This record gives sequence, structure tokens and C-alpha cells, in this order.
Amino acid sequence: MNKLFITRELLDEIISHCREDYPKEACGILGGKGNTIKKVYRAVNVDNSSVTYRIEPFQILKSLQQGGLEMIAVYHSHPHSQAYPSLIDIERSSEPYSPYVSIYMIVSLVQGEPEVSVFAIKDRDIREIELIIA
Ligand SMILES: [Zn+2]
Repeated sequence: MNKLFITRELLDEIISHCREDYPKEACGILGGKGNTIKKVYRAVNVDNSSVTYRIEPFQILKSLQQGGLEMIAVYHSHPHSQAYPSLIDIERSSEPYSPYVSIYMIVSLVQGEPEVSVFAIKDRDIREIELIIA
């Protein structure tokens, strides 16, 4: 995957969630088809932390399946750092129970305007993916 498509409305929904959970990290799952995001599933940050997150995905995975959508990406916020994967993000992406996907959206709230980036993380290799708002 080189490009990921999202509507302005869905992106705003993600950003709202990230702002609401500030100063904790917000997290959730993005469902869709192919490389188009169609639905945002908010999750509880089990870590309840401002520097890490953890998702219990099972209920969301069930909803995705019922809605006929695929899990495209995981999103989370960085309340205090740039929109780039942290060392913990990279480490956890290779944990056996976490990589339901390899695509991660990160919303940084460090600047006045949220900064959103998407990355493919696989075997500690990080590649940026173009996010197209359409
Ligand atoms: Zn992170």
C-alpha cells in the first residue's frame, strides 16, 4: 500500500477523539475496503497513558466483520511528540499479538494544528504512506 484514502469527515472524527482524550493517548481502529477508510472505531487506551497505548481489539474486530469491513489501520495520538512512530510503537508493532495490520496513523497534537501521518511498520522498517483526503 502506498496511498490511503480518507474523507475530511472521518479525519475530523479521529482528530476530535484525539483532542477529547488529551493529554492521554487516544487510539482506535480504521475499517474500510482496500485502501479506503470507511469507518472509525474508537477504542479504549488500556494503558491509560500519555506516552503509550494498547487496544483490546476483539469487540471492534467483531463489529468490523459484521459490517463487512476490513481492518485497514490502527490510529493513535501523540499528545507530546511528533507524528512519527516512537520506539515503543516500533517494538510493539512486532509483538506477535499486536500486528493485525502493519499500517499506523499517528496524530500529533504538539503543534496548534494537528499533524497526521501514516506509516507502514514491518520488522522495524518504517515507510511513510501518503494520506489522501478526498
Ligand atoms: Zn505512538
